[in-house]
Amino acid sequence: MTIDIKNLVRKNILSLKPYSSARDEFEGENGIFLDANENPFGELNRYPDPYQLKIKQKLSELNQISTENIFLGNGSDEVIDLAFRIFCEPKKDKVLTFSPTYGMYEVSANINDVELINLELNKDFQIDLETLKPYFEDENLKIIFICSPNNPTGNSIKNIKYILENFNGIVFIDEAYIDFSQEESFRNQIKNYSNLIVSQTFSKAWGMASVRVGIAYASEEIIKFYNKVKPPYNISQLNQDAILNTLNDEKINQVSENIKIILEEKKFLIQNLKKMNLVKTIFPSDANFVLIEVDNADSVYQELVNQNVIIRNRNSVIKNCLRITVGSPDENKKLIETLQNID
Ligand code: PMP
Repeated sequence: MTIDIKNLVRKNILSLKPYSSARDEFEGENGIFLDANENPFGELNRYPDPYQLKIKQKLSELNQISTENIFLGNGSDEVIDLAFRIFCEPKKDKVLTFSPTYGMYEVSANINDVELINLELNKDFQIDLETLKPYFEDENLKIIFICSPNNPTGNSIKNIKYILENFNGIVFIDEAYIDFSQEESFRNQIKNYSNLIVSQTFSKAWGMASVRVGIAYASEEIIKFYNKVKPPYNISQLNQDAILNTLNDEKINQVSENIKIILEEKKFLIQNLKKMNLVKTIFPSDANFVLIEVDNADSVYQELVNQNVIIRNRNSVIKNCLRITVGSPDENKKLIETLQNID
C-alpha cells in the first residue's frame, strides 16, 4: 500500500521551509563566525548543529538506516508532540490510542486541541481489531498511536502489521522499551510502509533520561516534515555530546550488560512477588517494569511510600494495579523486603 503523505499533512506545513542558517553554506570549522549574534567568548558560545548529523551518522551505522530516515527530538515526547503539529488540524482531526497506555499521547492531543479516540485494550492488554476496523474509514483520523511494549502493562502488542496494512493514516509505534524485549523493532519496516513512524529513546535502555534525546525512524518524506516543524536548536550541544560519548563500542557493550542485569533483576523481582499473598496477578512484561495486581493498591502504595520506596500507583487507570520499575540489585532487595513486611 503506498500512501501519499502529502495528503495527510496539514496544508500550512506543506509550503514551510526547514530551518537553515547562513552557516550551512560554509564547510569546515575554522571560519570567523559573525552571522548568528553569538558571543565570541566562552566554550558554550556557539549554537549546536540543528540537525545533529554526527549522532545520526552513528545511529545510521549502528542500525543500517540512512541519516535521512532519522529525526532526533528533545526526548521522544517531542517526537510525539511534533507528529500532532505535522498531521493534525486543531479542532478537526483526530488521533487514536489504546488504553491503558502512555499518558503523553493524550497530553499532546489536549495541548494541540485534537480529539483523542480511546479504545480499551482487551483483557490480555491486546488490540481488539474488530472494534478498531470501523475507525479506518474516518478520514479525519490521522494518527494511530501504538505503544509496544506498552506502558504501563508491559506486554508487546500483536496485530501491528494488520494495522499497518489496512490503515491509510500514520501508524506511530512507540518503542521506548523495545531494547528490553525479544521482539524485533519495527524500525526495519520503514522502507515498506511510508506511513510508519517508529519512536525510540535514549532514556530507558541507554540510561540517559536526563539528557532528553528521542529518535524517530520514518520515511524520508516524513522526516522532512519533522525538520520543517521542529524548533531549530531542539537538542543542546551538551546533550548532543553526551549522546555521542555513549555511541562507541565500549559504552554500547556496557549498555548491553546493564540490560542483561536489569532483565535478571526483573526475574528476581517476579520470583519473589509470586511468593507473596498480597500479589494477585503479575502481568507478563517485555519491559524494564512489571505491573502487578493487589487487593488494595492505594494502601500498598502508601505503606511503601512511608518506607521511602516509591513505585507507581496505577489504581486510577487499572483497578488495584501497581507498576514497579526494575531498579538496582540493592533497590530491588529493599523493595522485596519492604513488601514482605507488609505481606
Ligand atoms: N514513550 C513511552 C512509552 C514512555 O514510557 C516514555 C517515558 N516514560 C516516553 C515515551 C518518553 O520518553 P522520553 O524520555 O524519550 O521523552
